[in-house]
Amino acid sequence: MQLTKQLLDQRTDPLYDVLVVGGGAAGLSAGIYLQRYLLSTLIIDKGKARSFWMQELHNYLGLAPDTPGREVLKQGKDHFLSLEGDHLNGYVEDVVDEGDSFAVRVRIGRSNPTYRVFRSRYLIAASGVIDHLPQLADMRNVFDYAGHNLHVCLICDGYEMRDQRTGVFGNSEGSLEVAFPLEWFTPHITLFTNGAFAVSDEFRDRISAHGFTLEERPIVRFLGENHRMSGVELADGTVVELDMGLVSMGSKYHADYLQGLDLEYQGGNLVTDDMNRTTHPRIFAVGDLKVGMNQVIIAAADGAKAATQIWRDIRRQEGHRRAGTERKVA
Ligand SMILES: Cc1cc2nc3c(=O)[nH]c(=O)nc-3n(C[C@H](O)[C@H](O)[C@H](O)COP(=O)(O)OP(=O)(O)OC[C@H]3O[C@@H](n4cnc5c(N)ncnc54)[C@H](O)[C@@H]3O)c2cc1C
Repeated sequence: MQLTKQLLDQRTDPLYDVLVVGGGAAGLSAGIYLQRYLLSTLIIDKGKARSFWMQELHNYLGLAPDTPGREVLKQGKDHFLSLEGDHLNGYVEDVVDEGDSFAVRVRIGRSNPTYRVFRSRYLIAASGVIDHLPQLADMRNVFDYAGHNLHVCLICDGYEMRDQRTGVFGNSEGSLEVAFPLEWFTPHITLFTNGAFAVSDEFRDRISAHGFTLEERPIVRFLGENHRMSGVELADGTVVELDMGLVSMGSKYHADYLQGLDLEYQGGNLVTDDMNRTTHPRIFAVGDLKVGMNQVIIAAADGAKAATQIWRDIRRQEGHRRAGTERKVA
């Protein structure tokens, strides 16, 4: 059921089998499997998923290559709700391990928010990451093209860039390294620093050996129309024409709510075992937030694995059947 502020007042002290933080591809996949294992599940999602931002899911077996991410999310959420899962639009602020269960504090609503604590036996962190974008005076100008032909993912969109004049937008010398695997798809590469950082002589020599162009002047704006970026205008009025862009500026990891828990990270990503269990026995991590490839097909598989392992755990603990018994949620 889609929970609202009003419906929440009718529920007293619910204990879910599993609470999933994040309703993107990974969280919804987990939710569908969990409900099909007869486990009570609450998905809490603050919205604006990477999955939603994806204009076209190019490489998912069974879906047309122009399928928008928002359609995948809508279909996944409808499917989850049809299996009697609970879904709440809210922001998870904090998780406390109480021993047998977690207390999960959630902010509901942006203006005039209310706060609620939900409890669950298991937790799945499916809260993903979000890409950093070039910081220009007019961010609307950046959002007009980001996710269209100003890409953020080489694995997803390298194929679209083949033999195209492609600009790489970085925020450090290291971030511009993506140009070398990008060369697999196109030799026409210009690297942009936006005047924000210095480049070493060694790096200059490497990119010049590969035939890339380096542009260090600040960027004023992206040019184009109808969400098709066609180049950039630099501070001195110079226009650099491009067919495609690739932003490589790292990501923000959505894991603030896990701060009070002792979990292992690699960079910002959670470390898990093969079934996506973290170093905490009752916390799983799926999708972009965990170590691995940031792809929808991986996120969906992650959800299936975590749900299946949680079902095995609970089945072993309870040692009896669930069918025909009351659901645990109040
Ligand atoms: C422009 C673009 C194009 C892409 N193209 C492709 C492609 O063609 N093929 C492909 O396979 N992949 C593609 N990807 C990658 C793909 O989108 C991701 O790998 C996938 O969406 C990851 O799913 P996820 O569920 O882990 O994260 P997300 O989809 O980001 O979902 C995480 C959800 O958790 C929510 N959340 C975060 N913190 C909290 C909190 N504290 N409380 C509650 N909710 C929270 C977020 O708001 C979000 O809704 C693309 C990505 C982008 C940005």
